[in-house]
Amino acid sequence: MINILAFCLNLLIFQKDTSGITYEDYQRAINDYKPLLVDIRAYKTTPEEARSRFQQIMHTMKEAHPTVSYDSSEVSLFFPLMGFDYRAVGGRNGSGFRAEGYDLFDQNAKGSHPAHDIFIKDKNQDCKDDRTGDYVSILSVSDGIVIGTENNWQPGSEYRGGNYIWVYDTTTGGLWYYAHQKEIYVKTGDVVKAGQKISIIGRTGYNAAMKRSDTHLHLTYLRIDEEGNPFPVNTYGWLKNAVTLLDPRIAADLKPLALHINFRLLKIKPKTLPTLSFKAPATKTEPQPIEEKKRKRRSRA
Ligand SMILES: [Zn+2]
Repeated sequence: MINILAFCLNLLIFQKDTSGITYEDYQRAINDYKPLLVDIRAYKTTPEEARSRFQQIMHTMKEAHPTVSYDSSEVSLFFPLMGFDYRAVGGRNGSGFRAEGYDLFDQNAKGSHPAHDIFIKDKNQDCKDDRTGDYVSILSVSDGIVIGTENNWQPGSEYRGGNYIWVYDTTTGGLWYYAHQKEIYVKTGDVVKAGQKISIIGRTGYNAAMKRSDTHLHLTYLRIDEEGNPFPVNTYGWLKNAVTLLDPRIAADLKPLALHINFRLLKIKPKTLPTLSFKAPATKTEPQPIEEKKRKRRSRA
């Protein structure tokens, strides 16, 4: 009896058309993000057009992930540098964050730094932490979907982000931007889990590659409002409470806080897909076999 009830409930849930978008719409939105960034950078789109394209992509992402909700008091993160904590964030108490004048859609908007720079100890600028002699892993701070990457920045290029990753956060519905990495290990469309290694820290990007720059990760979070507009958020409080994945080689140097967990205890769970919701594509697939299956199931129920 319980089985039959559960089955009927399943049937109800799966038949309900909860979303106005198809899986193809979703894929298109993900694949449209990087071309938008490239067009903004190359002045191939006006700020107004760019905003409208961005809003469209964000609407699709929100429809595909109907459970996302932004509550600044609820955000819990993994610290993005393995073995490090908020004390590696540049500026006094997160004062490196300046949102004034920021405009994602206008290349001419200058002067803001809607981000935190997070530094390693790298005196000889070889991108390796001096204490371990090894590269520092960058971890995804949250669960999400990779919606844009660059992994081919060339020395001398004027592009400031270097090798970067953009992730749509499937918990809060916002965007994370990781810049200046040496190498990245994810690609557009990948599902990432909080704490998953996505790259190693580097010195790519016009300014980050300069001698005067110390090796760091540039990390931005953009909240997306109902209309799909981006607003940079000062994440210092979140980073202060973030969970550190310990690197035993530098743990002693860090004097771990109570919040730290030992990475040996962290069992990697099988990847679970975030909640998705799509309507069936219009006419492309053959509905016949599905209908038949349903009929059979119904007669059984
Ligand atoms: Zn920065």
